[in-house]
Amino acid sequence: MAMSEKQLETALDTLKKTGVRITPQRHAILEYLIETMTHPTADDIYKSLEAKFPNMSVATVYNNLRVFKESGLVQELTYGDNASRFDFITSKHYHTICESCGKIVDFHYPGLDEIERFTEHVTGFKVNSHRLEIYGLCPACQTKS
Ligand SMILES: [Zn+2]
Ligand SMILES: [Zn+2]
Repeated sequence: MAMSEKQLETALDTLKKTGVRITPQRHAILEYLIETMTHPTADDIYKSLEAKFPNMSVATVYNNLRVFKESGLVQELTYGDNASRFDFITSKHYHTICESCGKIVDFHYPGLDEIERFTEHVTGFKVNSHRLEIYGLCPACQTKS
């Protein structure tokens, strides 16, 4: 079984366990999120699925993404005023973001737990998580300039 199929199956299982009804739309949105890896916006998802689901609205896509987020399957990424991007949660990873075209690429790096401990030490906070983003120009944009 392909990796993405396995992920989809596990995700659908999680939804079933949390009592979320699996509609054909939910199934399609999840599948799209798992297969694309591009961190799409709700609008991107809507555009690529509207031919298949003519009655679906962007609001429906948003609502479904919220359901996935609450079930812990999907992460919402917000960058300033831009539309939220959605990421199917596989393992913990960081993001590299192209400042020219907005492309987001995943990369893995050992968790920066040291920074969390250090922060707790200097601020007295109980740290739960951290977020790290690397900015630059993607290979395609580098050849353009
Ligand atoms: Zn780029
Ligand atoms: Zn990601």
